[in-house]
Amino acid sequence: MPLDTVRHDKDADPLEIVTVPCLSDNYAYLIKGPDGVAVVDAPEAAPLINALDTRGWKPEALMITHHHPDHHGGTKDLRARFPSMVVMGPKAEADRLPTLDLALEPGFEGGSGTGRFHVLQVPGHTLGHIAYYYPDASTEGGALFSADSLMVMGCGRLFEGTPAQMWDTLQRLMTLPDDTLVYPGHEYTQSNTRFALEVEPDNADLVARAAVIDALRAEGRPTVPAKLGLEKATNPFLRAHLDTLKNAVGMAKREDAEVFAHIRAWKDRF
Ligand code: ZN
Ligand code: FE
Repeated sequence: MPLDTVRHDKDADPLEIVTVPCLSDNYAYLIKGPDGVAVVDAPEAAPLINALDTRGWKPEALMITHHHPDHHGGTKDLRARFPSMVVMGPKAEADRLPTLDLALEPGFEGGSGTGRFHVLQVPGHTLGHIAYYYPDASTEGGALFSADSLMVMGCGRLFEGTPAQMWDTLQRLMTLPDDTLVYPGHEYTQSNTRFALEVEPDNADLVARAAVIDALRAEGRPTVPAKLGLEKATNPFLRAHLDTLKNAVGMAKREDAEVFAHIRAWKDRF
């Protein structure tokens, strides 16, 4: 599915999205829409059960993004508390996930109304990693639950995929509308920002954003979600094709994927 052809229904009722901090720096999310409540990733059960109970919500579905335990370790306990909850996740990683009631393949479309979502293939961090995209999440635009693929001011480490795979993933995600809200799997924004400033110290948008991020974190507040348009202006991993970034890292005229590979490897050592 070409992502830029997904229609956005501006009249749809907005989804209610709740950010739930888990473990040391993971995020899970509650999504309340026309079909009920869904949970994106279950790093651990207790904070999720607490967030659901305080609202009197019962989840219809758990949507797992990839096989790393910090994204599904709470599944058993969450399922024990909500036995009718449907557990879904990437079919390609089913052998390394809790038992799936629904094994998803890229291109799958589910839900209805505002809760209509698309399963996107986002390999790089792991090979079977999927993201969940809700085109009608708000009157402004969609919501992308990207976990450890596109992250705020960064992207996931390449445990299984190649730099070229991740670059392809990010290029596809960049075709989504600029007002798409990005909901990643971790609060890594501040350290990602320090790296971004190392790569592009003269990027004025980035310098301004760094101050906003530091202020949020000083108050212990999440930096998520982030607008895709702002990510394109400041996240170095979405800028490997731009002359400004290539010049900043001394790689003018080099291939985009090569520049991406360079900054991804640099970040690993940072
Ligand atoms: Zn991961
Ligand atoms: Fe993770």
